[in-house]
Amino acid sequence: MPIRAYKRILLKLSGEVLAGKTGYGIDGTMLDYLAKEVQSVVELGTQVAIVIGGGNIFRGIHGERRGIPRASGDQIGMLATVMNSLALQETLRSFHIPTQIQSAIEIRSIVEPFIRQKALHYLEDGHVIIFAAGTGHPFFTTDTAAALRAIEINAEAILKATKVDGVYSADPVLDPTATRFEQITYFEVLQQRLKVMDLTAISLCMEHHVPIIVFNLNVAGNVKRIVLGETIGTLVNN
Ligand code: UDP
Repeated sequence: MPIRAYKRILLKLSGEVLAGKTGYGIDGTMLDYLAKEVQSVVELGTQVAIVIGGGNIFRGIHGERRGIPRASGDQIGMLATVMNSLALQETLRSFHIPTQIQSAIEIRSIVEPFIRQKALHYLEDGHVIIFAAGTGHPFFTTDTAAALRAIEINAEAILKATKVDGVYSADPVLDPTATRFEQITYFEVLQQRLKVMDLTAISLCMEHHVPIIVFNLNVAGNVKRIVLGETIGTLVNN
C-alpha cells in the first residue's frame, strides 16, 4: 500500500459541487464523480469525514429577499445540507463504501444526531461519515461546521474543494494577473480577506492548527494526490 500523508481528513464540499453543470439541485453524474474521488482514498485506508453545504438548494441570506427572516432561512439552508448528505450517502453506499450521516439538527427518523464519540468509532471502523446540518445554528456556514468538526475529530487536514486550483491573489476568473499561492498563513488569509473559507472558520483552524488545503475538485484524482502527499492547490497553515 502506498504511504499516505494523511490518515484522517475532513473533506469540505460546497452544495454547488453537487449541482454540476445545471447549477441547481443534485446532479447524478456529480454524485458518481464524488463517490469515486472518496473511494480512491478510502481504499488507501484513509478515514474520511465530509461536510457538505447546501448552496445548490438554499442559502439563508437569499431568503431575506423573499421576506423569509434570516434565522428561518438559515434553517432551510441547514435542512438543504441534510438532503445533499442523504443523496451522497446513498451514492457512496452504492459504491460499497459504508457511510453514516450525523446531523447537527435532530431528525431522528431520517439521520442520527451528531455524537462525537460515535463519529470517532465510525471513522475507526472505516466508515465515511457525513456531518449534516452545518453547526445546527443560524448565522454560521458549513465552512465553520467543517472547521468545528475537523477539530472535534482530530482531522489532520481540511480538504476544501473548489472550482479553481487554490488560493489566488485576486479572482483568477476576473483578473488575469492573479497569482496562485502555494502556501499561505491563516493570518495572511484573514488580513487580505482572501476567499478561502469564512473568517470564523479560518480563525478556528488557526487557533487549533488545522491545515487547510484548497484544491480543484474538477481535476479527477486530486483528492488521492493530496492524501498521498503531493503538493496540490494551496496549503493554509501557520
Ligand atoms: N447554514 C447555517 N448554519 C450552519 C451552516 C449552514 O445557518 O452552521 C445555512 C446558511 O443559510 C447557509 C446554508 O445553510 O447559507 C447553506 O450552507 P453554505 O452556504 O455554507 O453552503 P455552501 O456554500 O457550502 O454550499
